[in-house]
Amino acid sequence: MSKRVVILGGGESGVGAAILAVTKGYDTFLSDKSEIIPKYLNKLNEYSIDYENKKHSTSKILNADIIIKSPGIPDNVDIVNQAKKLKIPVISEIEFAANYTKAELIGITGSNGKTTTSLLTHHILNKANYNVGLAGNIGQSFAYQVATTNRDYYVLEISSYQLDGMFDTKINHALITNITPDHLDRYDYKFENYIASKFRILNNHTKTENFICNIDDPVIEAFIEKNRIGSTIIPMSIKKKISNHGAWLDNEKQQINININQNLINMTIEELALQGKHNVYNSMAAGMLSKLVDVRKESIRESLMDFRNAEHRLEFVAKVHGVEYINDSKATNVNSVWYALESMRNPVVLILGGVDKGNDYSEILDLVKDKVKAIICLGKDNSKILEAFTSHVEMIMESTSASEAVNLAYKVAKKGDTVLLSPACASFDLFENYEDRGQQFKQAVRAL
Ligand code: ADP
Repeated sequence: MSKRVVILGGGESGVGAAILAVTKGYDTFLSDKSEIIPKYLNKLNEYSIDYENKKHSTSKILNADIIIKSPGIPDNVDIVNQAKKLKIPVISEIEFAANYTKAELIGITGSNGKTTTSLLTHHILNKANYNVGLAGNIGQSFAYQVATTNRDYYVLEISSYQLDGMFDTKINHALITNITPDHLDRYDYKFENYIASKFRILNNHTKTENFICNIDDPVIEAFIEKNRIGSTIIPMSIKKKISNHGAWLDNEKQQINININQNLINMTIEELALQGKHNVYNSMAAGMLSKLVDVRKESIRESLMDFRNAEHRLEFVAKVHGVEYINDSKATNVNSVWYALESMRNPVVLILGGVDKGNDYSEILDLVKDKVKAIICLGKDNSKILEAFTSHVEMIMESTSASEAVNLAYKVAKKGDTVLLSPACASFDLFENYEDRGQQFKQAVRAL
């Protein structure tokens, strides 16, 4: 009798896992407690997959040999607890799919910069004509791609939720971009649990596998000092010279150096398509990952120069009467706002706010004092922002829509200023999601 796989969650990840499971001959069942959207219902029907919508029937779930849990479902929900009690393995979609591909896996995790670095790495490999897929938190799920295509390489953007359900998978080349507190609600409000989750990307590593390690990150540094890391560690830094295997920024020459297996690539930071200090890390990391799979030097250089980043990440929108408007709606935590502000060269009118996930604004206070002339709050409850900044900026105002915020910004910005939407918060008080917030911001700017 074939083994039974039950998938919890009927979104991109869950439906992809179900398609892979059914293709591999498992007795497959998918259960979602909320409503499955039509796009995914159609897919389930197309592959004749048995499913249930808006409920979890224990009798159909707890008879599973394996449960694949979608990343959106917390570990401590009732059905998962029951499954664990019965010793049914609960794994993530990436863990499941990794069993069915021989592709070399490049895995990228971290608190910020995952999407940018994944897109950039994929761009480099793709332009070099590698047979490469991009999956994980981006686009089509890994499982769906494994079921329907045959790749030699995958660039995987992996969230901590996916990592929590990963045990036997070996990621050949792993990167942790940085670690700052985020999503602590899913980690019993313990930062150390979130850190440990990120380091699961190094599961099963031996010296054959590579770990690209941001040694400027104090959290990462502290962890590797205390814990045994099996991987070959390849450091990167913008503060220290790394003379051997790794990447660093030569501050005098304003040049990045990527040195992998005695193969040196250097470029000035001006040549890089992605600007700003955070993107120096992202470019160095993507360059190293590409070199580790033997992409040619010239090809890496070219791709680092001609890459275009995804929407909503320090995206230039327009210049209106000498004022630049930048959409960084994806900045949903304080750390990413720090990097956005750090990269600003002009006085800033900062649009900030939304749903606070436990922000500590003191981290950006110095940069705000130094660079921000006005703050426009964009959220339903702005009390924490008002409290943190009122006595430190010339002007602080409140708004409840993107167009109101843009119009206020337009009034206070002078020629040579930059209006930056970099909210530090989630968006669902006033918008559907961060994309919607970014789109509405851009529309309002274009309507000026
Ligand atoms: P993620 O996928 O990890 O959320 P993104 O690439 O989508 O990361 O970027 C999210 C936000 O973080 C953007 O505002 C971006 O400007 C900022 N950011 C990008 N790379 C880094 C980095 N290496 N360090 C800190 N912030 C970053």
